[in-house]
Formats: sequence, structure tokens, C-alpha cells
Amino acid sequence: MIIVKTKAELSKMMAAARLAALALEHIGKAVRAGISTLELDSMIRRFITVRGGKPSFAGYKGFKGNACISVNHELIHGIPSKRKILRDGDIVSVDIGAFVDGFHGDNTKTFAVGNVSEQARDLLRVTEECLYQGIKKAVAGNRVGDISDAIQKHCENSGYHIVKEYIGHGVGRTLHEEPDIPNFGKAGRGPRLVPGMTLAIEPMVNATTSNVRTLSDGWTVVEGNGNLCAHFEHTIAVTEGEPIIMTLV
Ligand code: MG
Repeated sequence: MIIVKTKAELSKMMAAARLAALALEHIGKAVRAGISTLELDSMIRRFITVRGGKPSFAGYKGFKGNACISVNHELIHGIPSKRKILRDGDIVSVDIGAFVDGFHGDNTKTFAVGNVSEQARDLLRVTEECLYQGIKKAVAGNRVGDISDAIQKHCENSGYHIVKEYIGHGVGRTLHEEPDIPNFGKAGRGPRLVPGMTLAIEPMVNATTSNVRTLSDGWTVVEGNGNLCAHFEHTIAVTEGEPIIMTLV
């Protein structure tokens, strides 16, 4: 069942989304060569907890971290580690959820570490554009498939590969709610969007294949050929007019 939020619920959820967004902005300033993903994770925990929130991913299904931090060929669900030190030229995806007053907000950005290759820069640009192409379609009266189609088309027209095994989702009192928001599909299909739906739209784009695999740690999902990949995510609310990007700082 798709849970449509009331105005009061939306304003509560806005607090969670805003905290997730501020944490992501904060961590973006800390991303640099020489810092470990565990240090970034600790900063995220501190930032969220001192502001009265809880990191949504802490302990989620046994996840050992407060945020998912994935480097280069790692797409999603990277486990923070003191042995994982960022180097100049890396790209790093930081996926942060914050839980405040009964609601979650969820957002992700892939950051460049220092000077990255032209290829990496292009991949980041296209993946972020995919996110905004999807958001543009998240208006009342459209269907979920309109979001999916816009994301897939922009990705593939740009020469990249959309990941199909992992998808966006509804978000609210629980981190993952209905509906599923695939990053691929046909326009005009799927559930109808109505005002008050809150969605985590999150294109995941691979450089060379749509395949992914999971490492032996049981969590880290990597690009199928070991090449670069990127991930951008916002939590949005469907309204009568333009969607509200709840995780915009
Ligand atoms: Mg998400």
C-alpha cells in the first residue's frame, strides 16, 4: 500500500529530510584525499545525533556503519572502514538517511576527490542529470513509469548503463515503502502519483555494464566489470504542482 502523507506528516518528514541533506552537505566539505571512509562515517553519526536524529542505516539489517560509503567501482552499500583511504582522483558515493520524529529522509551524492578523470566527471554529471530528469516527472497525475522512463532514457542516450537490480522507493515512517521506483521502465505504466506521496528517487549508473555483483562482505555492490559507477538520490514529495525536493539544502 502506498502511504499518502498529510500536511502535518510532510512537515515532520521535512525535518528528517533536511537533516539528511545537511549531513550530506557537511560530508561533502570533508571529502578529501587521505581521509578514511570510517572517519567520514563517524562525522555523519556525530552530525546527525547532536541534532537529535538517528542515522537511518545504523544497524539496518545488521549493517556495520551509519551511512553507505562506496568508492570508485563500488556502487552502493559500501561498509565504512579505516582501511579505506580516499585518494586523489577517486569518486565516492555517500548515502545518508536520517530519522527524526518518526520519519526518514534519504539522500545520496557521488563526490569527486580532488582531480578526477574526464570520464568520471562526465559520469557524475549524467547521473545527477538522470536524477533531475526523474524528479521532473514526479508530478500528480503521472505514473511511476514516467519517472523510470525519463531516467533510463537519459542514462542510455548518454552512453551509460542503468542498474536494474537496485531501485528507488517510497520513504516515510519506514525507510523503504511502496511504491518501487525502478530506474528503468515504460512511461505511462505503474502506480499513479498523487499529492502527498514521498519518494526516494535514486538513479544508479554504471560506466560499462548494467550488471552488478555483491562482494564477499555480503554488502558492497560493485559495477559488474569493475569500472566506475555513480549514484545520486533525493527524497521528494509529490504535490499538486512541482515536486518538492525535501533533501535540498
Ligand atoms: Mg534510498
